[in-house]
Amino acid sequence: MLDINKMPNTPFYYYDLALLERTLDALQQAIRPEDPFCVHYAFKSCYNADVTRTICARGLGADCVSEGEISRLLELGFPASKLVFAGVGKTDAAIDLGLKAGIGAFNVENLQELEVISQRAVAMGKTARVALRINPNVDAHTHEKITTGLPENKFGIALEDTLSGIARANELPGVEFIGLHFHIGSQVLDAELFAPLCDVINDLQDKIEAAGYSLSYINVGGGLGIDYQNPVGNPIPDFESYFAVFRRGLKLREGQQVHFELGRSITGQCGTLYTKVLFVKEGKQKRFVILDAGFTDLVRVAMYGAYHHIENCSARPSDPLMTYDVAGPICESSDVFAVDRQLPQTKRGDIFAIRSAGAYGHVMASTYNYRPLPAEYSGHGEFQLD
Ligand SMILES: *Cc1c(COP(=O)(O)O)cnc(C)c1O
Repeated sequence: MLDINKMPNTPFYYYDLALLERTLDALQQAIRPEDPFCVHYAFKSCYNADVTRTICARGLGADCVSEGEISRLLELGFPASKLVFAGVGKTDAAIDLGLKAGIGAFNVENLQELEVISQRAVAMGKTARVALRINPNVDAHTHEKITTGLPENKFGIALEDTLSGIARANELPGVEFIGLHFHIGSQVLDAELFAPLCDVINDLQDKIEAAGYSLSYINVGGGLGIDYQNPVGNPIPDFESYFAVFRRGLKLREGQQVHFELGRSITGQCGTLYTKVLFVKEGKQKRFVILDAGFTDLVRVAMYGAYHHIENCSARPSDPLMTYDVAGPICESSDVFAVDRQLPQTKRGDIFAIRSAGAYGHVMASTYNYRPLPAEYSGHGEFQLD
């Protein structure tokens, strides 16, 4: 953790660990003692060590999607038994690392992967706990680039292949079949959209039982969204409603555990990207603010057309509002953070805060245009400008 006494070089990320703690409080209080719920942090949303250690200290597990993520999570202190491993393209080295460490579950995305895990486990004299990732055919009503639960997605095994997949998993040596995994997509704002997923799971369970198999592990994935429009007024997601949908919707059997993999809803609001205004350009039709941060620092707007709330931290209350396009310095016309945004009158040197950048922010940064990766800092409470 860094104590910042003077303004660091921009652009940089700042994580408010106090807000993260409050978010984790809300998450954990929304789970009742009798709920057989187990939350895993979707590590790919934010790799910052202070953020990740704070989450680890709360006893959460973690969801990982690569060999690198498994090793880093072990290094940061997560017990291997609390790691679940998804990913459409698990490499042999990643599978071997998971087997060696003894991770909690491999969420298997296709039947060839199941065979490979079995072969490698046998060769190592290990047993892999496997869950099958099933494509539930549920529409998350979210952006096409972050929807994952429809038949045309590359993720998961087709719903109608569930029983034959389970039969194969029970036949193969070196694997122990424990249950099913689902993930319908990301930035799902209406918790009720998870109700159809519960229906699919209940239906499948009946069929699985009728075929003589049982499940101990039901992983419903992640995807709970955050309020990008109003991050300051509404910084903490409605975990109560989210868990209530599953508490009400799932017909659980004795001894079953429901696993959740939440990323954005935990880390999204605690991160802010701070950036400096390089120029204010008066165009013929439009006024542009050119920042020193670009899509190499935060790609969500260019990649998903996402909305981020932007504040001018240097503005005084008396400054009049004006309309600006807010752009970055990268040599690509998609490097724009906002179009026709109302902001206080802006001048060269002002500091801007781009909010809700904690999830899928720094982790997606690149060095395009030979730019350095943005620095990361954290502290308890909002970052204060000098
Ligand atoms: C990315 C991902 C998550 C986390 O999604 P969020 O929208 O950040 O909650 C959970 N599970 C899987 C399998 C993922 O790929």
